[in-house]
Amino acid sequence: MTVSPAIVILGPSALATARRIQALYPQAVIHGLNGRVEVDQAYDDFGDTLRSLYRSDTPIIALCAAGIVIRSLAPLLANKGAEPPVLAVAEDGSAVVPLLGGLGGVNRMAREIAAALQVSAAITTSGELRFGTCLLDPPSGYMLADIEQGKRFVSDLLGGENLRIDGDAPWLDQSKLPMAENAGRTLRITTEQRTSPPDELLIHPRTLLAVVDEVDNLAARIGQAFEQAGLAQKSLAALLAPQTLMGDRQLAQVAADLAVPLRFIGADDVLPPQVKCGENLQLLKAASPEAAQTIGRPRGRLSVIGLGPGAAEHMTPAVRRALDEAQDLLGYETYVRMAEPLRDDQVRHCSDNREELQRARHAFELAASGRRVVVISSGDPGVFAMAAAVLEALEETAAPVEWHAVELQVLPGVSAALATAAKAGAPLGHDFCLISLSDNLKPWAVIENRLDHAGVADLAMAFYNPISKARPWQLGRALDIVRTHRTPDTVVVLGRDIGRPAEALRVLSLGELTPEMVDMRTLVIIGSSQTRRFPRGDGGEWVYTPRSYPQQ
Ligand code: SAH
Repeated sequence: MTVSPAIVILGPSALATARRIQALYPQAVIHGLNGRVEVDQAYDDFGDTLRSLYRSDTPIIALCAAGIVIRSLAPLLANKGAEPPVLAVAEDGSAVVPLLGGLGGVNRMAREIAAALQVSAAITTSGELRFGTCLLDPPSGYMLADIEQGKRFVSDLLGGENLRIDGDAPWLDQSKLPMAENAGRTLRITTEQRTSPPDELLIHPRTLLAVVDEVDNLAARIGQAFEQAGLAQKSLAALLAPQTLMGDRQLAQVAADLAVPLRFIGADDVLPPQVKCGENLQLLKAASPEAAQTIGRPRGRLSVIGLGPGAAEHMTPAVRRALDEAQDLLGYETYVRMAEPLRDDQVRHCSDNREELQRARHAFELAASGRRVVVISSGDPGVFAMAAAVLEALEETAAPVEWHAVELQVLPGVSAALATAAKAGAPLGHDFCLISLSDNLKPWAVIENRLDHAGVADLAMAFYNPISKARPWQLGRALDIVRTHRTPDTVVVLGRDIGRPAEALRVLSLGELTPEMVDMRTLVIIGSSQTRRFPRGDGGEWVYTPRSYPQQ
């Protein structure tokens, strides 16, 4: 399964089952009917949602009646092309029905989900029932040569033909296939490119590796090398390239187009024997598909991500994907916990929040060894958080060259000021500035100077790190400076734990504000001279700063 599945529910009664399925597929996104249930993603129309997921080839696990799913997708079913797995699951978890996507592994998913829910899957595919396996859907590491040939073959077996296996098919050891020495049908597992006679089913093991030393015209040269050697390109397991090409975008694109992994080899790597050597392109053959995936190592990736303020629904899909794909996660323990659900195989490196540069270096070391690493910040990673520390570590002269070969990405998140502002309305609707009141990393005099200028410029201000036990007096001093530029009725917004269970929002005036009302989990917004407040229907207040500023 390449695309993460969508779990679609109608109401809260399906939520428990949906969560159990999500525990099985942590990448899965739960879609819930707007207003009825709060989950990862809200939708307005069930049918439209199902159809658009289907069109984008997303596996669908619908927690509702099978009939509703069929009726919704009916208009799209006439032209049978590639189709994603579609399953209906009873909302109480008592039944799992694979509906569509037999070639996309729907039965395998149905078995996995059924096992997780401790029920049995309603498998109806004759071949699979009879033989205990789906010959048309071999495990990863093996590729069916031709689907039409496969369908004929399975129907012949259902019609009473026997088969023998020529080659290595370890996954069929436990199957109930009708094997016989003098069988009329042959299942051939081979890397060879061949035109099969009608009594043969061809499956290619992905054991061949192409060694790249130049990117020019690579895809065509790979095609030629396979053709000249009489080998099937479906047996290509990976491209092996020298580490000097790690940052090469064109090479990455070729691998993506061929849908094979790209791995890098150094002088010490032990390579499998060569099967063919053409004009600057060698083909190697590993002992098995599993062995082929252990040669060389992938380009490491370092994603510096922002979780947003807290709630899962304010986390971007790109960040969720990076978290799901991560092998190592680094960050302050609270943030690593906020990144859940995580799998047991994902390594958590929790450390004290203050060791930023050290954590950044550790992240590069892990990524440079080929791992997928995520560095976690709350809010946005570029706002008083890890992204700058990571870049600083990379720019250091002592940074090893391998760090520069790591695929580094910074994925934005909703920063506390934006999350707090949205709760209150739009206090940052006009020009504003963000200031950290922490003098741990800058002199207090600089902060005072900036506060003074922001006051003169009549900017709305958002204060991060406003106060802490170690910095008890700074906020009071900052407010003294602000008060020299703003009247006591200036609007102030305090957002505490925004997006988290203990969320609290308070609207008050600068005259009322005292440092005791604020702690380190609070974001303080001081309005400009134009910021306004008015009652909202529910008893609270809206705050906004108009788009226009009076002409002077
Ligand atoms: N990178 C973070 C900011 C880290 S600095 C971001 O973009 O949001 C830490 C400060 O951010 C805290 O002292 C507090 O002022 C503010 N903050 C972070 N999360 C918050 C939340 N959920 N609610 C209110 N303030 C928050």
